[in-house]
Amino acid sequence: MTNVIYPTTNFKATEQIVVERGEGVYVYDNHGKQYLEGLAGLWCTSLGYGNQELIDAATAQMGQLSYYHAFGGKTHPMMMALADKIRDMVPVDNAKIFFGNSGSDANDTFIKILRYYANATGRPEKRKIITRERGYHGVTVAAGALTSLPANLTHFDAPVEALGILRTDHPHYYKGRHPGESEEAFVDRIVGNLEKLILAEGADTIAAFLAEPITGASGVIVPPAGYYEKVQAVLNKHDIMFWADEVICGFGRTGNDFGCTTMNIENPALMTLAKQLSSAYVPISASVVRGDIYEALVEPVSEVGVFGHGYTYSGHPLGCAVALKTLEIYERDNIFEKAAKTGAYLQKKLAPFAEHPLVGEVRGRGLIAALELVSDKATGEGFPPSVAGFLTNACAEAGLIGRPVAGTAFALCPPLIITEAQIDELTDKLATGLDATLAH
Ligand code: PLP
Repeated sequence: MTNVIYPTTNFKATEQIVVERGEGVYVYDNHGKQYLEGLAGLWCTSLGYGNQELIDAATAQMGQLSYYHAFGGKTHPMMMALADKIRDMVPVDNAKIFFGNSGSDANDTFIKILRYYANATGRPEKRKIITRERGYHGVTVAAGALTSLPANLTHFDAPVEALGILRTDHPHYYKGRHPGESEEAFVDRIVGNLEKLILAEGADTIAAFLAEPITGASGVIVPPAGYYEKVQAVLNKHDIMFWADEVICGFGRTGNDFGCTTMNIENPALMTLAKQLSSAYVPISASVVRGDIYEALVEPVSEVGVFGHGYTYSGHPLGCAVALKTLEIYERDNIFEKAAKTGAYLQKKLAPFAEHPLVGEVRGRGLIAALELVSDKATGEGFPPSVAGFLTNACAEAGLIGRPVAGTAFALCPPLIITEAQIDELTDKLATGLDATLAH
């Protein structure tokens, strides 16, 4: 091992892949071995590796203006242009954009904006946030408390109660259904539970409901039809904002521009963007606020004199320049439309894996998918996490990088530029990995 403290890694683990370079949808290790990037890094390298236009945009910006900040009346052209571009793209009315560096800090920003909003609107109690079991929203102290995956909570004493964070059901029909329950009945039950929670806590104490339209790290869960329509009806009834965490779903991942479009979520109040915003060439995130929410923040700012929140690197010129170029490429090259087609092809190629003895469910939308690994297909009984770990290593051996998620599933989320021929290669390698796992 090295002297690095590795993120989200078993410190006792000894196996590592030393990734030295990348090109298109492939990366190469220090022995020259080629891997197909089945997870786009960490769900983020949408345009793949070595995109010359992004490299040129970064280089030009470093020469033009390597740094400026956005505090107290300063700005720079790239930041303003990027905000305009995002505003034009997102399904959020009259959006205003706050820039950060990561999905986690963008979600932290929203916790603060919600509190600021509660005070600004004279309802300081209305600040609790409802999240879902198994949700993943980052790992800073605050965003880590929004997250509810055990690995991210255990031993960290996250300030869940102090931040007024509540949990409701995860919309995974396959695992969460009662015996004999239809999808519709499942949705009605869990949305009913959401409303019960709101009534028990008091709607006047709850600011927002936070969800990834389709989840990533919690196992690529696509909620059943009608779920979000019913959730939004309940939230609207109780004057609670919908906060969409689009860190993974945003920018063409799920077969449309945003996960909200794919899942019929209308005009969310808040939207978190990161990862594919810059195709992960540089760190940048955006906290998108609906216009009417932003308007309520303006008056108290002038009373206090300042909205006292911001990072040294909020709107860093390098991040803005690369993100702007990324969004231009998405539009110019019709990347989302192409990804919708290759996404449909990926889902078609993955569907037959449901017949594999180790697989209980194949799920996904567009270019994001997961296989649920089960020891008993009839009951859906899962394996211990070591099996998804073994499969991950077996796929890597075959030259495919994927990721174990939520202990029992194996996730795929290739770059948006993947071709059908490369998807054939991906599924061949996946089959090799699964068979090696079965034989083990
Ligand atoms: N939200 C979601 C849905 C994510 O998947 C992630 C990271 O994977 C985050 C937030 C946190 O983003 P970051 O790792 O950039 O802090």
